[in-house]
Formats: sequence, structure tokens, C-alpha cells
Amino acid sequence: MREIRLASRPAGWPTAENFEVAETPVPVPGEGQVLIRNLYMSVDPYMRGRMNDAKSYIPPFQIGRPLDGGAVGEVVESRAEGVPAGSIVSHGLGWREYSVSDATKVRVVDPAAAPTLSAYLGLLGMTGLTAYVGLLDIAQFRSGDTVFVSGAAGAVGSVAGQIARLRGAKRVIGSAGSAEKIRHLVDDLGFDAAFNYRDAPVRDQLRAAAPDGIDVYFDNVGGDHLEAAISSLNKFGRVALCGAVAHYNETTPPAAPRNLSAAIGKELSLRGFIVTNHNHRMTDFVTEVGGWLRAGRISARETVVEGLENAAEAFLGLLRGENTGKMVVKL
Ligand code: NDP
Repeated sequence: MREIRLASRPAGWPTAENFEVAETPVPVPGEGQVLIRNLYMSVDPYMRGRMNDAKSYIPPFQIGRPLDGGAVGEVVESRAEGVPAGSIVSHGLGWREYSVSDATKVRVVDPAAAPTLSAYLGLLGMTGLTAYVGLLDIAQFRSGDTVFVSGAAGAVGSVAGQIARLRGAKRVIGSAGSAEKIRHLVDDLGFDAAFNYRDAPVRDQLRAAAPDGIDVYFDNVGGDHLEAAISSLNKFGRVALCGAVAHYNETTPPAAPRNLSAAIGKELSLRGFIVTNHNHRMTDFVTEVGGWLRAGRISARETVVEGLENAAEAFLGLLRGENTGKMVVKL
């Protein structure tokens, strides 16, 4: 089988040379384990942080060792009760064609309940849960709120904006990095307004899109987006600090937000979160979002790259904004 290993650590933007494709024997499952043939794997912005040798909430990737991350596959050999061969599972040992996992660490999923199995990496998986928890629990969204979502055409942002609309937002505004993404947000996903952050300062474009201010900001980007949101937030506004993708490849600390002290007078709440500490919300999330999916009320586009050998390129493309919706690799 083939797997992708970390060849070297990047300084600034990663390149294809930081990754290598290696051949290795298919692993053999032990007692209580399953062997999975992976069908889809996820590439995610947080993996950029794991390429650095730095202490974080999740350990760094190791040079010469396979990367890991979300994946969906079929159990082809089982030595565990409750997860028989033929089960479709999502798990955390992607970036390889076959994985051996403890059965207790996989999630058995229902292929019939999703449009494609890759949905268990996106709309019905980690990024969908991130949107759900970030908007409802962290930002404490309430019906009638005006919501601004950055990175809105991506996996998390596109779902956060749609949940806000379905839960009764007064107005949902999104930002993204191309004209086609802006069209997609308004025409396909039902955002009330959207703007391209490359066209003009975010602060000016957000002011124009939300003349009465915003109540909730779902931050996927950081920097100038966070600064603009602090400027537009109404009294008692709430921010879910989900990600800061604008900074992941920077080698110096960001200049913005320069207006953080405005949070004092406006009595804002800014709260970060890590989705893996909110797995207790999985059942609520699957029930509510799965219901919207069956009713045709929520959608999630995916950008699918074919072949394990192209996984590194898919990851680099994600950082450059080449995806609309969830970026996945079909193995
Ligand atoms: P996306 O699908 O949104 O893909 C990343 C996107 O980032 C690109 O498509 C690109 O879109 C955008 N981007 C890249 N560079 C910049 C920049 N300089 N300024 C603005 N946008 C940029 O990824 P995800 O939905 O998986 O993740 C979104 C965010 O959520 C990330 O910050 C991620 O780290 C975070 N996250 C946090 C989790 C948590 O537990 N807290 C869990 C999962 C994700 P564009 O064309 O619009 O620039």
C-alpha cells in the first residue's frame, strides 16, 4: 500500500517537496482492531500547524512518518465485535490506502443517509460539527441575529452560514476570495449578501453589507476580517474564534486586530474552541443537519481530487483557496 509521509518541515508556505509517497506493507489488525480500505480522506487547514515542530493542542507530524487525519473507508477485515467487515467507518488515520484502527476509535456511518460517503468528512462530519458547535454553542446564536461568516465558501463557513439562515437569522453575510464563490454563496446557499475580500478593505465591504451592524461573527480567517468584525459588531456581540487561516503560513505575528479594546466598551464576547472537545453534540448535530439534508434544505458542495498521489497537491490547493466547500481526496 501507499502512504504519504512528511519529508521536511516548511518555513512559510509548504510545497510538494515537504511530502513523499512511500510504499509499505498493508498492516495486520490485532485483537479488537479493524483493517480499513480508505475510500476518501480529508485535507484540512489545521494540518498546516501540525507540519511545524511546535507544541499545540494536537501533536506535530513527524518527519519520515505518515501524516494522519480524517478518512472514510470500508472495513475489510475485523477482529472486533460490533464492527464487522463491510461496515463503512470514519476515523482519524487518513493519508494512506489502508489503516488499522482500534474499533473503539472508529465511527460506523450509514452510507444510505448521505449523498456520498465523503459527506462524513464534511457536511455530516468534522467540519459540519465545527459549524454547528461554533455558531450555536460558542457564539450563542439566537434567531433574529445578523451573522457574518468569513471563509464562507469553505467547508465550515458554508455550513455555518446555512445553519444561521435555517435557524432564523435576520441577515447572513459571507466573505470569500473569488467572484464565483460570492455568486455561489448568494445564489446557491441563500446568503443575503456576500463580498470578495480581495476587492476592497474588509471593513468597508462589511459596513456596506451590514449597515445596522452584526450580532455574531464566525471567524475562520483572523487578521483584517476579525478587525472589521470588531468594528461592525453591535453591543453584546459574540465571536466564535474558529480559525485564522490567513496566518497559518505567516512567519511573523499578524498586525490585526488593532481595535481589540473596542470589545470592552461594546461588551463583546470572543471565544475560541476546538471541535474535538465538543463530540457530545454529535447526536444533536446529526439529527438536525441530517434532517435538513433529507428535506433538501441544506447543501454542501465538495471539491474532489482523485488519487492518494495528489493528496499533497489537494492540501496545498486548499491553502490557496482552490476549493469550494469541503476539499476531499478520493482514493
Ligand atoms: P476551508 O474549506 O474554508 O478552506 C480554506 C479556505 O481558506 C480556502 O478555501 C480559502 O478560501 C481560505 N483562505 C486561504 N487563505 C486565506 C486568506 N489569506 N484570507 C482569507 N481566506 C483565506 O477550510 P475549513 O472549512 O476546513 O476550515 C475553515 C477554518 O476553520 C480554518 O481556519 C480552520 O483552521 C478552522 N477550523 C477550526 C476547527 C476548530 O475546531 N476550531 C475545526 C475545523 C476547522 P478563499 O478563496 O475564500 O480565500
